[in-house]
Amino acid sequence: MGATNDTIFGKIIRGEIPSKKVYEDDDVLAFHDIAPVADVHFLIIPKKFIPTLADATPEDSALLGKMLALAPVLAKEQGLTDGFRTAINTGRLGRQDVYHLHIHVFGNRPGRPPLNVMLGRD
Ligand code: AMP
Repeated sequence: MGATNDTIFGKIIRGEIPSKKVYEDDDVLAFHDIAPVADVHFLIIPKKFIPTLADATPEDSALLGKMLALAPVLAKEQGLTDGFRTAINTGRLGRQDVYHLHIHVFGNRPGRPPLNVMLGRD
């Protein structure tokens, strides 16, 4: 982990603030978003400190692949069996608020209306 991961997600990784955990292993943590925009909304983050997707390097490829491959597995476990959306906000103009890379996974449960927002923030 980087020396200066003072973001809220760094604190969650270190257990300094609580989260509603969805999944954890040595490389990755997933937890429910504190302000969900759909029936289910969770975040997948690397434990390694990578501020934004634009900071990822080729050596992060396996980690990024693992995070992306986890999305449908965890989405299904969380009841999103009829589709979901993934999003990665990058940088200021990408409307990134927390500078620790994260994949948003969100969707409505089967039988509910389809999503009509990208992230619901605008
Ligand atoms: P972004 O705008 O892509 O950087 O998304 C940051 C996300 O982190 C937002 O959806 C927030 O609701 C979420 N968030 C902020 N603080 C927390 C927290 N303590 N626990 C869970 N999610 C959080």
